[in-house]
Amino acid sequence: MREIDSSEVTALVSRLYQEANFALPPDVIAALKSALAREESPLGREVLETLLENAAIATSDRVPLCQDTGLAVVIARIGQEACFRGGSFAEAVDAGVALAQEQGYLRASVVSSPCFDRNNTGNNAPAILHTEIVDGDEVSISVLPKGAGSENMSRLAMLKPADGISGLIDFVVETVELAGANPCPPIFLGVGVGGTMDRAALLSKVALLRPAGTPNADKRLAELENDILARVNALGIGPGGFGGTVTCLGVALEEFPCHIASLPVAVNIQCNSARRATGSL
Ligand code: SF4
Repeated sequence: MREIDSSEVTALVSRLYQEANFALPPDVIAALKSALAREESPLGREVLETLLENAAIATSDRVPLCQDTGLAVVIARIGQEACFRGGSFAEAVDAGVALAQEQGYLRASVVSSPCFDRNNTGNNAPAILHTEIVDGDEVSISVLPKGAGSENMSRLAMLKPADGISGLIDFVVETVELAGANPCPPIFLGVGVGGTMDRAALLSKVALLRPAGTPNADKRLAELENDILARVNALGIGPGGFGGTVTCLGVALEEFPCHIASLPVAVNIQCNSARRATGSL
């Protein structure tokens, strides 16, 4: 059994959360540059140029890419031969989020009771933590700062199997159309299909970890991703919602077996500030 001190988890989460907030991943920068090359709307191109300039300034000056530094979504793959000493894994993750908020001067965006007092927790914790037990003794941690503008526009539907692929595509396209400019386009789409209601939602989030421009390894699902991308871009919402050819920079779809009578579909929208960072222990 490999022992890992929980302070290492805290340090890694803090580093990743700050890194994600100060620098867009290279694949996201490449997707924005590619969009700039093919966007037909002059205003759309101006928005894309501004986003690229903003990303360069954020990285060089170590300032947040966006004022909404996000809710800390943390997805951890924990090797079953690893164990943690000096505190629980979940507490160590929350401590890392709080440390990042303090060291990086990030915005505290979490309220304790959504139903009633809505008091700010003051340190951006707790994280939304998802864990998966995997083989080996390594621990991989991915951090996605998730802004509310795009998260709020996400949707889930329990479709009927008879709705089929066309019903699935229609639901995703309708979700983007209803969202309009709210999720700060150009967007990325994480789509989760199958499982149960909760599994579909998690799949849609995990899908957002896939680097832009990387199709699903399954050829049929890759074609489905392309079909969705074409339909969404035909909406003409464009960068910033000012109209244009590039509304969406990429679609990542993940599926899981489901009940014979079910077709759960979750759409998690990610804004242009598609922040994520991954590290391992
Ligand atoms: S949706 Fe994204 S880009 Fe827009 S305000 Fe929120 S975090 Fe920032």
